[in-house]
Amino acid sequence: MAEIIIRNLRKEFGDFVAVESSSFTVGDGEFFMLLGPSGCGKTTTLRMIAGLELPTSGEILIDGDEVGQRPASQRDIAFVFQMFALYPHMNVRKNIRYPLVSQGMPADEVRTRVDEVARILGIEAILDRPVGGLSGGDRQRVALGRAIVRNPKCFLMDEPLGALDAEFREHMASELRSLHDRMGATTVYVTHDQREAMQMGDRIVVMNHGIIEQFGAPQEIYDYPATLFVADFIGSPPMNTLDLDGTLPTGSAHVTLGDQSFAIRPLTEPATGALALGVRPEHVSFDDQSAYRGTVTAIEYLGTTQIITLDSPNGTMKARQPSGIPIREGESVGLAFRSELVTIFDRDTGTAIGSERPAGGDNG
Ligand code: ATP
Repeated sequence: MAEIIIRNLRKEFGDFVAVESSSFTVGDGEFFMLLGPSGCGKTTTLRMIAGLELPTSGEILIDGDEVGQRPASQRDIAFVFQMFALYPHMNVRKNIRYPLVSQGMPADEVRTRVDEVARILGIEAILDRPVGGLSGGDRQRVALGRAIVRNPKCFLMDEPLGALDAEFREHMASELRSLHDRMGATTVYVTHDQREAMQMGDRIVVMNHGIIEQFGAPQEIYDYPATLFVADFIGSPPMNTLDLDGTLPTGSAHVTLGDQSFAIRPLTEPATGALALGVRPEHVSFDDQSAYRGTVTAIEYLGTTQIITLDSPNGTMKARQPSGIPIREGESVGLAFRSELVTIFDRDTGTAIGSERPAGGDNG
């Protein structure tokens, strides 16, 4: 187990800055996600932690030791790129024990460790089978076994479930998470899939263009996005961001849309210029008493819920409602928002305006 501290980590490839100046701490035993769109710098960050890429500047501390300029072999880290990467000519047992045998570990100890790992992963019965005929799930368990057997300080995983179809991916994600809960090893996991990050992570770093946009627990990031990028990237459908012009002094606890006033969390700083009111689709409700109205333009049935698209005076928005609610395209509905989960953004800077929180914390 290990704590990983990243301080002002930067990586340049020639003139191109892949990672600007990242700072975050991965707690001992934490399942930590690096999340962002393709090209945002998450793999480069992970490769620097692994020692496969040297930082241009900044520090990487693993359990207090500065390892930034040390080779991968001196970091006691297991890197899982792609769980299907097995040695095809070896059976399951030989695949798993390979890293120990190549270290010259005594045979008795190797056998004990492999048996222990097979038990943890529930693959005792297939230890002597060739890897060629295994199912995708078993192949992944074997590849994980090969990483676990070394008993490394931490695991680094780069989109390990990326090649799987959606249903199996979800299953393996929860299996990986429960494996983590049993082993408690510090894990840093790269994904571009916000659902996977929310499902598995204790905490998430959201990256964009080499910059950390936000860093926090899944619900914190979901409820209080620090930037418009996070508001849009996290959530499906993403957060609605309605145009809002005007000046809101510090302490403002209401905004006006059309003829209707809406309560918001009191602002802890002033907001002026081009603003946006951010509200998640499930925090939009229909209220006959509201003077603020939208017209239904589309209805998407999703089984237990339906996504209703509306034209409002401040832009297109979506509302998530239970499927039972009768509603038709073309209908005009009064709109209300769950005030404690509304965020005001500055469109020019793309950041959230600071506001009070029911449970404390920092917003933007
Ligand atoms: P993806 O999921 O697509 O891999 P990512 O967020 O992991 O995305 P990185 O692989 O970290 O992104 O790449 C960040 C940026 O750095 C990209 O624009 C990529 O083209 C660039 N990059 C990565 N490695 C190199 C390299 N060796 N030389 C030059 N540019 C690189």
